[in-house]
Amino acid sequence: MKIRILSICPEQFDSFLKTPLISRNMASGLLDLKVIDIRDYAEGSFRKVDDSPYGGGPGMVMRCQLVLDALKDVRSESSRTIILSPIGQPFRQEDAHRLSMEEELILICGHYEGMDARIYQYADELISIGDYILTGGELPSMAITDAVMRLVDGSMKKESTEEESFEEGLLEYPQYTRPADLDGDKVPEILLSGDHEAIRKWRHDQALELTKERRPDLIRKNKLLLVDEELKEYIEEEVLPCYREYEDGHGIDHIRKVIRNSMELISDLDVDVSIVYCVAAYHDIGIRYGRDDHETTSAKWLYEDRKLERWFTKEQKILMKEAIEDHRASRKEKPRSIYGCIIAEADRDVDPETVIERCVSYALSRHPEETEEEACSRILRHIQEKYGEEGYLKLWMPSKKNEEGLATLRRWLKNGEIIPKVRRHLEKRNRESVL
Ligand code: SAM
Repeated sequence: MKIRILSICPEQFDSFLKTPLISRNMASGLLDLKVIDIRDYAEGSFRKVDDSPYGGGPGMVMRCQLVLDALKDVRSESSRTIILSPIGQPFRQEDAHRLSMEEELILICGHYEGMDARIYQYADELISIGDYILTGGELPSMAITDAVMRLVDGSMKKESTEEESFEEGLLEYPQYTRPADLDGDKVPEILLSGDHEAIRKWRHDQALELTKERRPDLIRKNKLLLVDEELKEYIEEEVLPCYREYEDGHGIDHIRKVIRNSMELISDLDVDVSIVYCVAAYHDIGIRYGRDDHETTSAKWLYEDRKLERWFTKEQKILMKEAIEDHRASRKEKPRSIYGCIIAEADRDVDPETVIERCVSYALSRHPEETEEEACSRILRHIQEKYGEEGYLKLWMPSKKNEEGLATLRRWLKNGEIIPKVRRHLEKRNRESVL
């Protein structure tokens, strides 16, 4: 990976360049890192890089032209340009993963009161390393380089970076080393047992408890973390594969999306996450026996699955069965429980383009004999009946995504924008079927 750091304080990097991670990877050729002194682009003997702010105010502002000149010299087709700034997006582990896939990074460090704002348009992104103010972008650029380099293929052993905090959405479990007994403070017995499966489970539970206690925001962002590991394994290995043979629209991608939507909907709700997860996983499984009453066959499939008794009581299974029975969009009454409302809402997925795509796919599979014109009228009629101002679709709980999607669809129906969109999807599907 090639990294170019643009800074007015290149000497700050002297010891960073000697750290094992950086020096080792530079020596092996995996990292090509250079720090460019922005002052080299300043004219005059004072090499002035700052000036006073227009409009007045304290401090000085970094001048735009020098940074642009430096950038021009290092930029290439494959570089991704990043400006370090407190107004940027917060840097997270997922960003470190994303950036580790890049060929070339350019990191621009600000100073003083910051940079002339006209520079921002030349960056691919602005990154902040936290809600506090540092003197310059040098420390943030080192933090990002370090986090990214750990993840570049070949830089470190995979096992060392796989089990760390944030990798699975959790903080890391507690670690211990010798001595096993520190003046009576003993290492947890299980770590000395040699039972690898029990240790793995203990570590997962510890990581979960620690995250709940210290970073509940991480759990709120991804409630799936609260679902029992063995239940997840069962659903992943034995339930979700059943969807592989279903037509698109109700295949495995749809189910995964409904699981994700369900988790987003419950981020601030106090409900049983395992029930929500299971209901989402089974809600369309009965499609195998026909689409028309699939809510009943799916509910029955879940209710009759004896393996679920390991995790759920009979009452919980009834609750899940009813939620699936109530999930259809055509149902006029409100679902009997919050779980029914959640699955109904998560399944709506009123993303306008997805709605059109699913309607097209359904119409073509049900009425293959129709001409393109006939199919188009049928689809438009259906979208109007379901999503129009007087349509039968009801949103059962607040969801910004669905409310916005529905508003867009209604606007398209009103101003006719929907017609060319349906035609485009139809043409695409017809073209694909010819190929
Ligand atoms: N006046 C600016 C503000 O209030 O947003 C802060 C300027 S700061 C003193 C100078 C430079 O340090 C910034 O231009 C930026 O490059 C860097 N910097 C400071 N804090 C940072 C942070 N949390 N994340 C990324 N860069 C930061």
